[in-house]
Amino acid sequence: MTANRRVPDCHPLLPHCARGLCHPCYSRHDKAGTLGHFPRTTLSGDEFATRYTAMRAAGLSRSAMAAALDMDRHAVAQAYYRAVRRRDITPDEPRVKCGTDGGYHAHRRRGEPSCQPCKDARAAVMRQRYHRAAS
Ligand SMILES: [Zn+2]
Ligand SMILES: [Zn+2]
Repeated sequence: MTANRRVPDCHPLLPHCARGLCHPCYSRHDKAGTLGHFPRTTLSGDEFATRYTAMRAAGLSRSAMAAALDMDRHAVAQAYYRAVRRRDITPDEPRVKCGTDGGYHAHRRRGEPSCQPCKDARAAVMRQRYHRAAS
């Protein structure tokens, strides 16, 4: 992992937390509700794509990524969709189990052939639909 080498503007000798603040100042402003006075350090799209891909490969959850990037989860999701649209990053592997209808669609989205459990699940869904339509 690349360390965040940014130096806080408030107390340059302390480790940087976020928004140019050290940890004590960050939590103080967080509690006081004055964090908004300190703009987020924004990442360029390229930086985001690189870091997102690295963190995803490391198995980080979205909330862990959001904390590491000093973004809220909503902002991470937005940046993610923008990056996917620009084709800077590949879409997340959907977290669906094989042997379900969702699993079948996940295979299709990834452009790969479905495994047998997923095919069976899909066939079961189609059968159900057919019976429902027929009755
Ligand atoms: Zn400080
Ligand atoms: Zn499958």
